[in-house]
Amino acid sequence: MERNIFEKDHQMFRDAVRKFVDKEIAPYHAEWEKEGLVPRETWLKAGELGFLGMDVPEDYGGGGIKDFRYNVILTEELVRVGASGPGFSLHNDIVIPYVLAYGTAEQKQRWLPKLVSGEWIGAIAMTEPGTGSDLASVRTSAIRNGSDCFVVNGSKTFITNGINADFVVTVVKTRPEEKHHGISLVAIERGMEGFTRGRRLEKIGQHAQDTAELFFENVHVPTSNLIGTDGMGFIYLMEQLPQERLSIAIGAIEGAARALELTIDYCNERTAFGRPIGKFQNSRFKLAEMKSEITIGRVFVDRCITELNAGNLTAELAAMAKWWVTDLQERVVNQCLQLHGGYGYMMEYPIAKAYLDARVMSIYGGTNEIMKELIAAPPARRSRRRKKRPPAAARLFLPGRPAPGPRRVRPPAAPAPARGRSCLQPGERSADVPQALAGGSIQRLRRGRQFHPVAVIFATDAGQLRRSRQVQHPFGCPLRRC
Ligand SMILES: Cc1cc2nc3c(=O)[nH]c(=O)nc-3n(C[C@H](O)[C@H](O)[C@H](O)COP(=O)(O)OP(=O)(O)OC[C@H]3O[C@@H](n4cnc5c(N)ncnc54)[C@H](O)[C@@H]3O)c2cc1C
Repeated sequence: MERNIFEKDHQMFRDAVRKFVDKEIAPYHAEWEKEGLVPRETWLKAGELGFLGMDVPEDYGGGGIKDFRYNVILTEELVRVGASGPGFSLHNDIVIPYVLAYGTAEQKQRWLPKLVSGEWIGAIAMTEPGTGSDLASVRTSAIRNGSDCFVVNGSKTFITNGINADFVVTVVKTRPEEKHHGISLVAIERGMEGFTRGRRLEKIGQHAQDTAELFFENVHVPTSNLIGTDGMGFIYLMEQLPQERLSIAIGAIEGAARALELTIDYCNERTAFGRPIGKFQNSRFKLAEMKSEITIGRVFVDRCITELNAGNLTAELAAMAKWWVTDLQERVVNQCLQLHGGYGYMMEYPIAKAYLDARVMSIYGGTNEIMKELIAAPPARRSRRRKKRPPAAARLFLPGRPAPGPRRVRPPAAPAPARGRSCLQPGERSADVPQALAGGSIQRLRRGRQFHPVAVIFATDAGQLRRSRQVQHPFGCPLRRC
């Protein structure tokens, strides 16, 4: 399916990036994988060619074009050659935006030209050894010492570009006794006394990307390095994380597409039982399924890119893109590896590296479980619902019924109260009711003629009463018609 989000200028930019990636990155990437690091010269070359800070205003040396599609192209071209090492996307899509959005004119003047030229490499440090998903529980503290500096203590882990980084947007607690409201962002720079790096962490994939621990011991950070307003850090993170998550989804969909391409080629070449393995019905169906899903995923990601450019990308949409597409990528690379047979398990075949590189995509940038939490109940809706929620006992019954007292929750052997004609009799078990719940009494919850939900009240080992999920019969009751 032809993509329609790019224009002529984007194509020219893509050609330039492709040339750079083919010449300066692809030939050296395997070497960098062994070293666990991308050399700083490569960053300088990228900066020179205008591939860093494309959206930074020209006054600060940037491209001056506020259009995320250029960032997309850079990510796609790196993924196209399997270059998981250069952390350009993190630098462009995640670190620089904090400075652009919340930095003062003085800070922009001080930091952006170096970030755009590649002289400085950026990182973002949120995760700590004790907390990742629960960001509000970070413990790295930045305590004011007089009016002109913070003293920072704590540590961070799993930090991308950690070894190379010169400029680290660091999530700290300026008021450690508070949760969300105590969070601020400070920029910690290479060379500040007390700022040290731990070992380069050994990962199962993405070997050329340097991932490290950072330590802060009484680091004196000038207050002029506070990004935005004191105590607003959590809000800033929530504002910027959608772009980070979309950026991951963009890499994931391209990664899935590349794995499929590699596999189609392999299936055409490899023969078994006298014909190419791509001719077996199973292979053709698997390839067809993957092609369909990637096409569908791509459409959604492209739409999210358009929404981001229009300033309309919500946290919910970004979370959907991130979990669904990274999940898809994992399924695709797994299936593609399977189609490679034993060769898929050998590192000399690029599908093996693709498989290993993909595994982290559902973890970083917020795990996919956290993405589903965000989609299921955005905080605003959750708090509105909480106010209206009935007491726990009442929640066992459908709305419209008389409010039940605790005595309506009966022990397992007791019959459910009969009201009108029943769909399932107390004690009966529908074929849909899980076997594990046998022995529970059936609480009939009838709603209309076409829809017959029932719930099973059963006792746990501890003797507490619990209700199973509702079992619904959308096409009528399996036992008898009411
Ligand atoms: C290669 C790599 C690069 C990274 N780069 C960076 C970086 O540059 N900067 C940075 O700050 N961090 C980075 N991270 C950290 C990453 O963002 C975290 O690992 C991630 O957010 C998960 O946090 P955690 O590892 O502490 O897992 P935990 O929070 O301990 O979660 C463990 C498990 O519990 C589940 N879980 C937790 N809470 C819930 C919940 N409420 N509901 C359901 N399930 C839940 C999680 O989904 C997960 O499956 C990187 C990680 C890796 C592996």
